[in-house]
Amino acid sequence: MSSPDGSREPAVGGPTSAVETACPLDCPDACSLTVTVRRGRVIEIDGSHKNPVTDGFICAKVRKFGDRLYGPDRLLYPAIRQGRKGEGKFKRVAWDEALEQIADRMRRAKAGSGGASILPYSYGGSNGLLTQDNFDAKLWRRFGTSRLARTVCAAPTGAANMALYGKMASVTYQDYPEAALIILWGVNPSTSGIHLVPYVREAQKRGAKLVVVDPRSTPLARSADVHLPVKPGTDVAVALAIHRYLFANGYAAEAFLNQHARGVEQLRERAEEWTIDNAASVAGVEAASLERVAELYATLSPALVRCGWGLERNRNGGNAAMAVLALPAVGGKFGVRGGGYSMSNSASWNIDRPWIDAPEPDTRLVNMNHLGRALTEYADPPVKVLFVYNCNPAATVPDQKRVLRGLEREDLFTVVFDQVMTDTALYADIVLPATTFLEGYDFARAYGPISLDLVLPVVDVVGESRTNADVFGELCARLGVLGGGEPSGELDLLVGVLDSLPGTVGDDLRAGARPAPACGLAPVQFVDVFPNTPDRTIDLFPAALESTAPAGLYRYQPDPASDRFPLTLISPASERTISSTLGELPRPDVRLTMHPSDAAARGLADTDLVRVFNDLGEVHCTLAIAAVVRPGIVSLPKGLWRRSTRNGFTATALVPDTLTDLGGGACFNDARVQVASLAIA
Ligand code: SF4
Repeated sequence: MSSPDGSREPAVGGPTSAVETACPLDCPDACSLTVTVRRGRVIEIDGSHKNPVTDGFICAKVRKFGDRLYGPDRLLYPAIRQGRKGEGKFKRVAWDEALEQIADRMRRAKAGSGGASILPYSYGGSNGLLTQDNFDAKLWRRFGTSRLARTVCAAPTGAANMALYGKMASVTYQDYPEAALIILWGVNPSTSGIHLVPYVREAQKRGAKLVVVDPRSTPLARSADVHLPVKPGTDVAVALAIHRYLFANGYAAEAFLNQHARGVEQLRERAEEWTIDNAASVAGVEAASLERVAELYATLSPALVRCGWGLERNRNGGNAAMAVLALPAVGGKFGVRGGGYSMSNSASWNIDRPWIDAPEPDTRLVNMNHLGRALTEYADPPVKVLFVYNCNPAATVPDQKRVLRGLEREDLFTVVFDQVMTDTALYADIVLPATTFLEGYDFARAYGPISLDLVLPVVDVVGESRTNADVFGELCARLGVLGGGEPSGELDLLVGVLDSLPGTVGDDLRAGARPAPACGLAPVQFVDVFPNTPDRTIDLFPAALESTAPAGLYRYQPDPASDRFPLTLISPASERTISSTLGELPRPDVRLTMHPSDAAARGLADTDLVRVFNDLGEVHCTLAIAAVVRPGIVSLPKGLWRRSTRNGFTATALVPDTLTDLGGGACFNDARVQVASLAIA
């Protein structure tokens, strides 16, 4: 597609202006940004000092966001499909025609098969309060479509945090230097949430001990006092061994537990089988190292556990999060600055989105990790209309081949509303161009530190792209689900959200001040904030979860490896994409990382072309041999687009669509594979 307004012409010469805004992408940090504009074009994006956590620097990903804004993959106008699905041939149409076709297909699907035959599908392409769960939610709820369980990430950890603590606000980045011990569990801030790193380094400078639990040798793992390179899926056993150590050696905070917790005895009982030796054997780590971690945790305070998202991406992910998050309760680590746990802080603002103003219908709930099944198997009713926005499921969702088979269905009407021609958009019947965060208003809410900022339009929209607010508002109107006098445009929505934010948050944002939630910007757990559970205590053994977890709470389910597929494939976040956002940009040759001993056992050499395969699919790419992963593990980057590998498949082609024990999350790290040279395939 070419630009109708010449907006890709470089802006050379002339005065510049700097605009302050914020980053609403799916990253914990929600940086404040200074964007330099010349002749109406973005020429530089950098961190500002407005947000003290950003402190003037940002990731290389968003520095390059201009390459998406003006890049060759940018969608510039609505278009309808001309060729086969997946071929990417489209014809430009007017917005009015595109929206009317969509409204018509939705009306007909509802009349013929019921609203549940329409599946809205979205995730965190933007975490902004205007672009996610706003007018879109109003449309789907009022029209009575299928509901989507947005579980591809953070569902197991979220379920655990909710059950244990009612999503109590947690320790923020600024308080890390107060800790005497930091455990980074399943998280690599050198790649995602990079603003945590200086705070960890500052804590180390002040003498804090650092423990990293991660199968990879990450930059922080290399400087840690103890690195536990656990096998993926075994975190629950490791955490329970620490619990057992605390209980068995008189370090459990019995008085605190008596006052603030329920379910202590059940947890103690479930931890009993996990001696240090048992857990170390299952996790593939040295027993002495695990015992050292237990001893450090028992004896140092303030002690802080950062619960990341790496530990949830397997069959035991929910129980792993439960066991890790329960540690500060049993260890008595709350009540002091720098002690407790740290994870998503998005709930600290108590924003319950009153602007949706529509009850959830009692329609079919589709787990987003089962998209392939939903498109190929669901019959009551079958999915007739799929509306994808803020995500790229053809690249990111488990069982990629089945997802693609579903998207190929000729009787499926697919709409993709996105900024660029994604892998999913290639299968659309209609593509709609969306604005980026540089072209519209939004709210950037951090979920690592606690911050909330206004996102402002920095440049005019590129091409004919439109905001989510405008498009979903227009569809609401065309489908007759908007009441007279209800706000409908982006600015109306912006004002509506500002008016509905709790306390003085909206007024502070209007005045250009930095708002704070009721709990403050750096709450101390069990001093400033307490569990939001119904009885305000910690529920260490929630009955509802015990009955839904396949093997019960705090239970370990064995590794799914087989003789045919003995290697564990992990797909961690990289320094190039935010999930799959920016995956369209050119990148160096994608490589599968493998430990030297595994390569030697297979007669493979560095830079060999290999096939990574299992019964679900295969990926062809180049091999990189490095001891940064432990033996038995191979790694491909998360968020790859299909163009990035040699056969058009990514790690998700090898991932089963099985679900985590709690929360219905994706089991990305349960992919078991074999690797062989492509030369002998
Ligand atoms: S992606 Fe994260 S680190 Fe990068 S600019 Fe956005 S908030 Fe900051």
